[in-house]
Amino acid sequence: VSPDASLERTRDHMHSVPIQRGHFVLESGLHTDVWLELDALFVDPANLAPHLDALADQLRRHAITAVCGPLVGGALVAQSIATRLNVSFYFTERCAERSSSELFGAAYRLPAAIRPLASRERFAVVDDAISAGSSTRATIGELNTLGAQIVVVGALLLLGNRGERYFTDRSIPVVASAREDLALWEPDHCPLCQAGLAVERR
Ligand SMILES: [Zn+2]
Repeated sequence: VSPDASLERTRDHMHSVPIQRGHFVLESGLHTDVWLELDALFVDPANLAPHLDALADQLRRHAITAVCGPLVGGALVAQSIATRLNVSFYFTERCAERSSSELFGAAYRLPAAIRPLASRERFAVVDDAISAGSSTRATIGELNTLGAQIVVVGALLLLGNRGERYFTDRSIPVVASAREDLALWEPDHCPLCQAGLAVERR
């Protein structure tokens, strides 16, 4: 299967994910006009499998020893990739008491039992979708704190270029099985706020 054919299949599949249009504030604190119901991705594992295969193939060349993803969707992707590549699997959980209301204020932690193991690993950090990359950034921050190496970031769906730019500026390459455009605004520059539309938190 050519990479192009794989990408087309992924796009078809992603397009079957329920899409809401409106005015949303993401975990990062940035605003957007589209929300994808990504939990629907995991209902049909056979349909999702080729996209996980494609992502695993892109991650394989980075010689990783472990995959880590934030709960919930990122961890589901991480476990599937870890199985395919026969490497270790880690996940992070959102840490409500450490999260602040400022932009990119969310904090994620590894469960205590696996924190001591992380420092020896070469990680891929993955998520189901990355837009601004809030939970991916926070997961990388946690792994860095523990002395682990992060060698690549991966997503089933990369939305816009803001998240990708953040990671590549830090010399962490980003791979994805599909890419779509997405508008993201700082709250002060959001045209939907300026139009007076009520905002939904996601
Ligand atoms: Zn807004």
